[in-house]
Amino acid sequence: MIGLLTGVEIAVMGGDARQLEVIKKLAELDAKISLIGFEQLNHPFAGASKEKINEMDFSSIDAVILPIPGTDLEGKIETIFSNEEVILKSELLSKTPPHCTIYSGISNAYLDSITKKVNRKLVKLFERDDVAIYNSIPTVEGTIMMAIQHTDFTIHGSRVMVLGLGRTGMSVARSFHVLGAKVKVGARKSEHIARITEMGMEPFFLDNLEEVVKDVDICINTIPVNILTAKVLAKMPTHTLIIDLASKPGGTDFRYAEKRGIKALLAPGLPGIVAPKTAGKILANVLSQLLQEDLLKRKEKTE
Ligand code: NAP
Repeated sequence: MIGLLTGVEIAVMGGDARQLEVIKKLAELDAKISLIGFEQLNHPFAGASKEKINEMDFSSIDAVILPIPGTDLEGKIETIFSNEEVILKSELLSKTPPHCTIYSGISNAYLDSITKKVNRKLVKLFERDDVAIYNSIPTVEGTIMMAIQHTDFTIHGSRVMVLGLGRTGMSVARSFHVLGAKVKVGARKSEHIARITEMGMEPFFLDNLEEVVKDVDICINTIPVNILTAKVLAKMPTHTLIIDLASKPGGTDFRYAEKRGIKALLAPGLPGIVAPKTAGKILANVLSQLLQEDLLKRKEKTE
């Protein structure tokens, strides 16, 4: 049960349609919200006011919410609803109170370094198991959509290979299995091999990948390292469709795949593409819970 966020001051800086769900939820919970990089947004939210980054008072801000990618390597923040340039600098963060927490989807060297420099806590939401597992739901739906769009055969009855049994791989494998595909899953840990067997699918150790790819119709990769190398692709049938879900640059040798005539698609950010509203709600729910916990901790300290 999430309590209200009355009295909590939050700066939401930039972002896309997903962030609107976050703002909506925080507004419902009675937080005081400053929107930076939203001047083209027509929809009013109760308790939210549009601000300019240079004119804003950060001295009472309890939390800063950044878009999923955080910042780029120069500190620039993506703003879909604004033409304004929004740059996050350590000088700005240093104006926030010491308890102010910075929330982002992921981070990079720049964001890590400025938050560290000013000693503010940085929470990377996409590293959380709950967020990754919830996000696997729209990811799976997007993967099914791509498999349908890019093949001329049914998923049912086709030979599908899933690489990796992490939070995304498990959901992908299970869903294609349920749709009637013959699913093989590749992993490197014996406990994963055991789990794949328990789930009623065919497991294989990644060391044997070259052997196992020989009869695959659809290959879905979730391993963020170079796994579908030229050597592996050389053994793959040319009709195989590769859907690479791993974060950029993916785990496929795309140059070699193209040379061999294998269709290989890098498919980043599927939740935000196929279901921005759900993807936003996933973040909104987790964020409101975390902000609530922050608030309770602060109250306990002052009592
Ligand atoms: P995860 O839970 O950490 O799973 C990663 C998997 O990769 C695990 O099975 C892990 O196996 C395996 N792995 C990692 N390094 C490996 C290596 N060197 N050799 C062999 N296996 C290795 O991550 P996730 O949440 O499922 O996400 C997987 C990837 O998908 C990430 O890159 C993520 O950014 C991306 N993603 C993309 C989308 C999209 O829309 N395209 C959506 C969600 C996530 P071990 O347990 O043995 O390490």
